[in-house]
Amino acid sequence: MAWTTISKSIEQWGTIPHLHDYEAVRSHFSWEQARLDLEGLPHGQGLNIAHEAVVRHAKGARAAHLAIRWLGKSGTVEDYSYGRLNELTNRFANVLHRLGVSTGDRVFVLAGRIPELYIAALGTLKNRSVFCPLFSAFGPEPIRARLTIGQAKVLVTTSTLYQRKVAAIRSAIPSLEQVLIIGEDRQPTAINGTQDLGVLMQQASPEFMIGPTNPEDMALLHFTSGTTGTPKGAVHVHQAVVAHHMTGKYALDFHQDDRFWCTADPGWVTGTSYGIIAPLTNGITSIVDEAEFDAERWYRTLQDQQISIWYTAPTAIRMMMKSGADLVRKYDLRRLRFLASVGEPLNPEAVLWGREAFGHPFHDNWWQTETGGIMIANYAAMDIRPGSMGRPLPGIEAAVARRTDSGVEIVEEPNAQGELALRAAWPSMFRGYWNEPERYHKCFVGGWYLTGDLAKRDEDGYFWFVGRADDVIKTSGHLIGPFEVESVLIEHKAVAEAGVIGKPDPVAMEVVKAFVSLKDGYIPSDELRRELLGFARARLGAVVAPKEITFLPTLPKTRSGKIMRRLLKARELGLPEGDTSTLEAVS
Ligand code: AMP
Repeated sequence: MAWTTISKSIEQWGTIPHLHDYEAVRSHFSWEQARLDLEGLPHGQGLNIAHEAVVRHAKGARAAHLAIRWLGKSGTVEDYSYGRLNELTNRFANVLHRLGVSTGDRVFVLAGRIPELYIAALGTLKNRSVFCPLFSAFGPEPIRARLTIGQAKVLVTTSTLYQRKVAAIRSAIPSLEQVLIIGEDRQPTAINGTQDLGVLMQQASPEFMIGPTNPEDMALLHFTSGTTGTPKGAVHVHQAVVAHHMTGKYALDFHQDDRFWCTADPGWVTGTSYGIIAPLTNGITSIVDEAEFDAERWYRTLQDQQISIWYTAPTAIRMMMKSGADLVRKYDLRRLRFLASVGEPLNPEAVLWGREAFGHPFHDNWWQTETGGIMIANYAAMDIRPGSMGRPLPGIEAAVARRTDSGVEIVEEPNAQGELALRAAWPSMFRGYWNEPERYHKCFVGGWYLTGDLAKRDEDGYFWFVGRADDVIKTSGHLIGPFEVESVLIEHKAVAEAGVIGKPDPVAMEVVKAFVSLKDGYIPSDELRRELLGFARARLGAVVAPKEITFLPTLPKTRSGKIMRRLLKARELGLPEGDTSTLEAVS
């Protein structure tokens, strides 16, 4: 394999990275030792994420230190010290407690990046309930599906999102006992069947004692998508905090005085593990921006907030590249010292563009909802091979594997392709798919967790992403299950069959594209296409809905009737069709 290498010297590091000697740390590493970096609940009562993220700092020397600075869309700035965050999250935990919400109950939050989301997440963990984030751009259908599968007991949302997306589906979710509303501009709101969160918070006590928490108690439920079936709820436990904390140090190189900005939305796993938990357990300052992507706003934020570590995503980097490096140079970004990226393949040009525009390359890292934390990374101290995801974290054994009839075979030969596998287990490994033990067990073969990604490992142990082994779609960093989209399309009266693929896109990596065949009596037209696009968008939300629809007389299917998305994709891209021996004969 040919690659360029970006070598680093001690002078370029600025701060000595925690992982400056990868081999040495890796060879001595143990998760038991890593756990000792955390405090644990008093009197040996276990391990709780919120204690590590908030309480231990609030009770110690960092009580007055800035934990979260929130930048509102329209210019408001709110500061939350560790002490204040502790008090507010205590209040939220008391709100839940008073409402009879107990250990293990699922508390969903559907909100943009507003302070209440962060307070609800951490307060839920204090109450030993389960925090389940929902992406605020989802339409009513993905929201309904996730609330139903996760058997939501509580939903925290804004008055606007409730009225637009939840009110009409509420009766379809019988488990949902409480809806707590954040009013417009935090003004008290009276909506039938809901309670005003602001009022409840005022009435609640600012004192709360976290109860005994078993490290294996469920803490987080993150929904993700597969090729088939409904969305899957990946279960994470309190013990995951050991990995959040350690990867914050080793993969993102958090040091005490850092100001960190994770641009991911907490509706997805990165925005929770690294947008909420890891910076707080490490006691640093996290910047949260409510606004959506805008290159100039982002550069101004990096400058004005004196960001030193920045964790973002390839789609955003590609959008910045479009507006050019000259724009970046108008800003004083001297404090910036480490740039990282996750979520999709990061093209080598983007890594190098980071160096040209910001003076530092982007450091790609790899992980997924199921792994709970970063597994493979380009560390601050290491020589980067642009295009590679880097090397496994200390404590993580990664390999390229092939499924065989009897189990799994590890591919030792360098640069050979196979499925990326991780040796089970590590603290943030998912402990199940909620209520779907079979789907969970299928992911593990011979002691390895098989990730569903195809990868290669080179002679020096760097991992290179090849593609997905399944049909899930990555669009602007969001993982979309084709089945969820197809299911909505076939609800339309004109649609007989739908097949959904990811169509390559230079910025978003892939866009959702649907192929549709119509029922008798319906004729393809631009008007019907627009109607279907609007129909899907209203139900699924803009991120999940298809951007393109092509009508076909019939869709290619296997003899057992499964739509062959692989073939649809090959035909769309003009690629060889591969093995079509299972293709149903079309009469
Ligand atoms: P999610 O579970 O939504 O976080 O998506 C995880 C998936 O995103 C992975 O299984 C990969 O397919 C993809 N992914 C994440 N990080 C990277 C990366 N650095 N390079 C390539 N693909 C990535």
